Amino acid sequence: MTSGQTDIVIVGGGIAGLSLAALLGQIGLNITLVEPHAPPPMEQIKPTGRTVALMNTSLNILKSTQVLERIGPFTNPMERMRIIDDSMQGAKPIHVEFEAEETGKPYFGLNIPNGILRAALFERVQALESVRIISASLVNYEAHETEIIAHFDDGTKIPAKLIIGADGRQSVVRTLAGIDARIQAYDQSAVTCLIAHSRSHENTSTEFHRPAGPLAFVPLPGNRSSVVWVEKTDRAEEIMRLKKSEFIQALAEQGGEILGEITLEAGPECWPLSSVQAKSLRGPRVVILAEAAHVMSPVTAQGLNLSLRDIAALSELIADAARLGLDIGASGILKNFEKRRSFDIATRVFGVDGMNRAVSTDRRVLKKLRRAGLKTVGFCSPLKTLAVEIGLAPQIDQGRLSRGESL
Ligand SMILES: Cc1cc2nc3c(=O)[nH]c(=O)nc-3n(C[C@H](O)[C@H](O)[C@H](O)COP(=O)(O)OP(=O)(O)OC[C@H]3O[C@@H](n4cnc5c(N)ncnc54)[C@H](O)[C@@H]3O)c2cc1C
Repeated sequence: MTSGQTDIVIVGGGIAGLSLAALLGQIGLNITLVEPHAPPPMEQIKPTGRTVALMNTSLNILKSTQVLERIGPFTNPMERMRIIDDSMQGAKPIHVEFEAEETGKPYFGLNIPNGILRAALFERVQALESVRIISASLVNYEAHETEIIAHFDDGTKIPAKLIIGADGRQSVVRTLAGIDARIQAYDQSAVTCLIAHSRSHENTSTEFHRPAGPLAFVPLPGNRSSVVWVEKTDRAEEIMRLKKSEFIQALAEQGGEILGEITLEAGPECWPLSSVQAKSLRGPRVVILAEAAHVMSPVTAQGLNLSLRDIAALSELIADAARLGLDIGASGILKNFEKRRSFDIATRVFGVDGMNRAVSTDRRVLKKLRRAGLKTVGFCSPLKTLAVEIGLAPQIDQGRLSRGESL
C-alpha cells in the first residue's frame, strides 16, 4: 500500500531523530517520522540514571526545537567540572577543577534526563502539523533518480525526496545503504543509577579517573546526581548482582562518599560500551547521522553533543536548499553534509577512544603521561581555558544553530 508523498522520512524517534523532525517540521517541510516505540507522556516518565550532559552550544541547537522551557525543572546546570585522577597506586590523587565563570559563562551546560528530553521532543513533534509520526519499522527502500520509496514492516510504502537514518547504533538505514562501519566492542560496560545524597553537589560534575575506568557523578535538581560508572564487563556484571546495600557501599568506596550519605533512587542499569564509526554518511537519497553514524564511550560525555552538531548541519543545509526551491535529496547537498561533518566526527571518535584507553590503561607509562598532562593543565590557567574550549565548546563546525541563531 503506497501512502501519501512526503519530503523527508526520518527513521528513528530517539532524541536525535525527534530533534531533527522538530527543526525541519517547524520550517514547514513535510516530514514522516518513523518510530516503533513511542515514549510515554512526560508526566509518566520514571526517573532513571540515564542523563545527558549537554554543553552550551548543544543547548543553543535544542533551544530552536522549543523544548528547553518545558524540561527546565528537570535539568541542572554544571557550573564546575572536577577531575580526580586516582589511577596510580601509591601516588597522591590529582584534582583539577574547571569553573564556567572563568570562560565568562554561568555554566558549562545542563544535565538532562534522557527520558524527559525524548518525551518533550515527542510532544513537540506531535504538535507540528507538518510532521506525521508513524509507528512502524523501516525494512527496505528503493532509491530512484528523483525519489526514494521507504518500505515499512506493516507493508506501507512512502515515497520521499530523502531518507534520514537516525535509527541508532544498529542502524538498518546504514546497512541498507551498504555503508561500512568500523565497530569495536570495548570490554567495558557503564553501570548507571540515580542517587540522592546528604551533601550538596554544588552544581559540580565530578569525574574520577580510576584504573578500571571513569566514574562520574553529574548533578541533578535537589541533592541528587546521576552516576556513570565504567568497569570491565565482568566486574560490571558482578556489580549488577550486588544487593542494594552492597551496591551503595561499593559506590561510596569508589568516590561517592564525597557526596555524603548516599541512597539509591533508581537503577542500577548496565550498558555495554562500543565504538562505531561509519565510513561514509550517505548513499543515493540517503543520509545517516547521530548514533547511526558514530558511537563512543560516555567518557567526556560527547556522544549526543556531537550528534546535535550533525543535526544542526543537516537542518541548515536542507533549509537553505528548500528556500531556494532545490531538490533537498540531491547528491550535492548530501556531499556537503558529509564534507562539513567528517572532520568533527573523526576527531571526536578518535579523541574519545584515545581518552578512554588513557583513562582505563594498565600501562604505567601512559598513566604517568596523562597525569602529567592533567597536572600541567590544572596549574596553567590559559591551558585550562583552552582545554575547556576544545573539549566542551568545540570550534569545529559552529553553524548558525550552534551560535544560537535561528534556522
Ligand atoms: C551510559 C551513557 C551515558 C551517556 N552520557 C552522555 C552525555 O552525558 N552526553 C552526551 O552527549 N551523550 C551521552 N551519551 C550518548 C547518548 O546517550 C546517545 O548518543 C543518545 O542517547 C543516542 O540517541 P540516538 O537518537 O542517536 O539513538 P537511539 O536513542 O538509539 O534512537 C534510535 C531510535 O531508532 C529507532 N529505530 C531503530 N531501528 C529502526 C527502524 N528500522 N525503523 C524505525 N525506527 C528504528 C529505535 O526504536 C530508537 O528509538 C551517553 C551514552 C551512554 C551509554
